[in-house]
Amino acid sequence: MHPAVGDRRTLTARAGVLGLQGDFAEHLATLERLGVEAVDVRRPDQLDEIDALIIPGGESTTIGKLAQQYGIVEKLRDRAAEGMPVWGTCAGAIFIAKDVPGHPHPLASLMDITVERNAFGRQVDSFEADLDVPVLGADPFHAVFIRAPVITRVGPGVEVLARTGGSVVAARQGRLLATSFHPELTHDERFHRFFLSLGKS
Ligand code: GLN
Repeated sequence: MHPAVGDRRTLTARAGVLGLQGDFAEHLATLERLGVEAVDVRRPDQLDEIDALIIPGGESTTIGKLAQQYGIVEKLRDRAAEGMPVWGTCAGAIFIAKDVPGHPHPLASLMDITVERNAFGRQVDSFEADLDVPVLGADPFHAVFIRAPVITRVGPGVEVLARTGGSVVAARQGRLLATSFHPELTHDERFHRFFLSLGKS
């Protein structure tokens, strides 16, 4: 058991997961385990019904293309500007970054970070690592990386939350959160709890 980060009463009551592509089902399951009402978001109007949104891992080009096509990007920018917490995991982190060199088409551009895709290279397609994440407490966080991006630049308002081998792999800017790895694939819910407490801070 890991110590809780924020108890039930301090978590967002209803959170969405962008369900266009990728491993959204695992995020929905984690939210449900935490007793949060979980919404599978596929239309822009659903963004008005939720208090926080997770963008899952998957393929950032596909997620970006579909989100644009379904009119979600513009609405998401409005909701984020209103203060709705948004968390991108892996491809989701690419989707919310302001700067992604060489990305074939525009993304949501919410968070003041530069993200390099597939930055750990082909030889290490996927790996796992125990991260020191002070905002989650003293226990290390076991992180799963799959064709993971790296955060290569953080803007002045961005706080680095975790590194591995010197590379930044988790960061926060106000109510925006980006992680290169997949907390929905393990059973340590501290990152989900941390995210769900951002709207209450
Ligand atoms: N490499 C993928 C991309 O660029 C992200 C991988 C993932 O989400 N696991 O979209």
